[in-house]
Amino acid sequence: MARVYNFSAGPAMLPEEVLKECAADMLDYKGSGQSVMEMSHRSKVFDDIIKEAEADIRDLMNIPDDYAVLFLQGGAWTQFSAIPMNLFKNKKAGYINTGNWANNARKEASRYGEAVELASSADKTYSYIPDVSDLPITDDMDYVYICQNNTIYGTKYKELPNTKGKLLVSDVSSMFLSEPIDVTKYGVVYGGVQKNVGPAGVTIVIVRKDLITDDVLEGTPTMLKWKTQADKDSLFNTPPCWNIYVCGLVFKWLKKQGGLEAIKKHNEEKAKILYDFLDQSKLFKGTVEPEYRSLMNVPFVTGDKDLDAKFVAEAAEAGFVNLKGHRSVGGMRASIYNAMPIEGVQKLVEFMDKFEKENA
Ligand SMILES: *Cc1c(COP(=O)(O)O)cnc(C)c1O
Repeated sequence: MARVYNFSAGPAMLPEEVLKECAADMLDYKGSGQSVMEMSHRSKVFDDIIKEAEADIRDLMNIPDDYAVLFLQGGAWTQFSAIPMNLFKNKKAGYINTGNWANNARKEASRYGEAVELASSADKTYSYIPDVSDLPITDDMDYVYICQNNTIYGTKYKELPNTKGKLLVSDVSSMFLSEPIDVTKYGVVYGGVQKNVGPAGVTIVIVRKDLITDDVLEGTPTMLKWKTQADKDSLFNTPPCWNIYVCGLVFKWLKKQGGLEAIKKHNEEKAKILYDFLDQSKLFKGTVEPEYRSLMNVPFVTGDKDLDAKFVAEAAEAGFVNLKGHRSVGGMRASIYNAMPIEGVQKLVEFMDKFEKENA
């Protein structure tokens, strides 16, 4: 068996230990005689799985009791609509444009009201995070929205915006559980799990309980009203049982690594290897302003399209797959989520060094 180092932005690598545990449990989950895939979501055994997953993520992220944790479907994209549908009272919100995901969320919200662009880094291909200390937030805005780690452009907020007392809503899809965050600073913090937490099919939405109400936009579908799932502990309809179970295993794996402080240290150490290499390289160049660099997504270029393509092809042959950058940045992107081992990045850097010498 030869496993590759998968640098995909998502779906992405999962810890090998977790995959082995899934394999071991596949035919007979803990003596139940069934796979979790086959199990009734109303069974006691699944109820234990989802309750334990919730308890573990609460523990990992230090989520206070006045926040609900919802395991939903439909990806981050579905929350682009659910957020305005649940939070619009004045039908107006502010969005910070740091790239495609933030912008897609803003466009979706503008179908239901006024979604104002408060700041943007489009002028430099989203290679930095705009100044968020004094944004033109007005009193009638229901919330301020950010995409905290920009998967495509490889930027991350150093500091949260000054929301001038308004609710903060954050998409953390590509940095979920990669470092500690202070949940109390947010009204809603959410993400699809397929970047850093588990198999595609679950979106985890952490939302302050007072924001979960029946007072939603007229016409909001039952499934998009947070209260529907909050009232039923995410079991209103059939949930993606197996995917939630795998997320639960990842939570336990993270606890075993020492929790989010420890994983952050590991991620910093890992990202530094790649950024240090880029900073001294004469061929490869990082595309992000250093102070806004993401720990998770690292875009880089050679400046020559043909050479980029050659690198991506030769890297894949050597077992480093999915390094092609997003079309809007070009070049390469290495996504180095929690499950990417340090050796994966070390070996990639060795490969880049060799490629640089061969193509000097
Ligand atoms: C991948 C991604 C999305 C889209 O997620 P889906 O689950 O495919 O809808 C949204 N936001 C960010 C930051 C992402 O990385």
